Amino acid sequence: MLMKGKRGVVLGIANKKSIAYGIAKACQEQGAELAITYLNERFEKKLAPIAEDLGCAGRLYPCDVSKPEEILALREALERDFGRIDFIVHSIAFAPKEGLSGRFSDVSKEAFNVAMEISVYSLVELSREMLPIMNAGGAILTLSYYGGVKYIPNYNLMGVAKAALESSVKYLAEDLGRDGIRVNAISAGPIKTLAAAGIGDFSFMLKWNAAHSPLRRNITIEEVGNSGMYLLSDLSSAVTGEIHYVDGGYNIMGMPAVIFDKEGKPHIAWNGEDR
Ligand code: NAP
Repeated sequence: MLMKGKRGVVLGIANKKSIAYGIAKACQEQGAELAITYLNERFEKKLAPIAEDLGCAGRLYPCDVSKPEEILALREALERDFGRIDFIVHSIAFAPKEGLSGRFSDVSKEAFNVAMEISVYSLVELSREMLPIMNAGGAILTLSYYGGVKYIPNYNLMGVAKAALESSVKYLAEDLGRDGIRVNAISAGPIKTLAAAGIGDFSFMLKWNAAHSPLRRNITIEEVGNSGMYLLSDLSSAVTGEIHYVDGGYNIMGMPAVIFDKEGKPHIAWNGEDR
């Protein structure tokens, strides 16, 4: 039981398809005690059976990360019910629709600020506000995507937010290292979730990734869950500030693989079947 005796909070479970659910499940299976959060009352009912399933029916708390008072209330609730905590999973992102298609340069300042506040600053604020109740040896994990490193069609504003998130991981890792807290990110390959549905042409992204990843398939939330559990457990006790790819190896490809037809002419193996 790699997480026995560890207590942590998971933010960002919308349903059982959420990446955060995959991570929470993997931690629970390894003996962790969990608390989870929901965005507002609308989601409380939906999350109640999931909390039950994760063994934390009494530890389901509200937390809209755009509201500082809710982050403080979350800390109070965790302190009341857990005393201290060992890990935080931050699996939250949001960008207004206008930021996820069309021309990037058309994005409004308002949309830009909302995406940065919810998808990036929330990690910094959560880390700071939870620090007083975190045990040394603890770990913080967030979720990123390759679109923060290289251009990905339609990812637009979220790509810029993920670049800032990945940089925040490194600065937080140095900052919280003195408190014995590690901070890492998983850069996951595309997975069909609620958040992903907001990205233009997402099903093409899935096909493209499956076709061009070394493993020739897409990844699952269980696989992200297992890697996340590793980064939250003592198995990774000397790992911090890392952006760990769980993407079937897609990020190492410098060029799409090609196949050759009967005449020896190359063409891109876009659907993966002929690789
Ligand atoms: P998801 O199931 O829709 O999870 C996103 C979560 O963010 C939801 O629980 C959502 O709550 C929450 N959220 C949004 N605004 C919030 C706020 N103001 N306060 C608190 N929570 C808020 O989608 P997901 O794909 O698992 O996304 C989780 C993370 O993984 C995100 O950072 C995403 O960018 C990242 N990621 C996803 C993929 C992918 O392909 N799916 C790939 C790489 C990285 P509600 O649902 O209640 O609104």
